[in-house]
Amino acid sequence: MSQRLGLHPTEVSAFEPPATVDHEKLLHAVRLILEAIGEDPDREGLVDTPKRVARMYEEIFSGLRGDPRDELSARFHVEHDELVLVKDITFYSACEHHLLPFYGKAHVAYLPSHGVVTGLSKLARLVDQVAKRPQIQERMTNTIANILHETLEPQGVLVVIEAEHLCMTMRGIKKPGSLTITMASRGVYDQDSTKQDQVLRMLNLHP
Ligand SMILES: [Zn+2]
Repeated sequence: MSQRLGLHPTEVSAFEPPATVDHEKLLHAVRLILEAIGEDPDREGLVDTPKRVARMYEEIFSGLRGDPRDELSARFHVEHDELVLVKDITFYSACEHHLLPFYGKAHVAYLPSHGVVTGLSKLARLVDQVAKRPQIQERMTNTIANILHETLEPQGVLVVIEAEHLCMTMRGIKKPGSLTITMASRGVYDQDSTKQDQVLRMLNLHP
């Protein structure tokens, strides 16, 4: 599937994840972390923490157990090929280097071809599915653009993501409020800077 769509395997998932989360392993791992940092995993406040963390991980990494391309299976036809832009899609992901959250807004634009469009909510679901896995922002941006470009086959795709990374703000270089902006363009939005500028201006990202 990844090969057919020309996606680099790591852009969606480099391996086949198990269908369900291994809860026993997670319970054990969280308990070990608590012990390793010098905590008492049996004290009252922590006794249910491994269970809570296991359930939380299942939720925030649920994107590993699905194919985000499935979100775009709904197709509709419109008469004219005009820009579709969904901006300010809130997402939460986890940086794969530190397993700390990064979160922000995704803006997804495409110019349809032959009037083929998908549901607007599907774009938000696509962002969500790609976000809910250990991730880096650069790959997340490219993955969303590739899936949209290769599944809907539009004339062009432009994806911009603005995010704050807790691994940069609560630890390390500690730069609260810093935003990381990434962009991926395909088709006409890659080749035609006027068309690209038009979208960036709508996002207030152009001078
Ligand atoms: Zn990080």
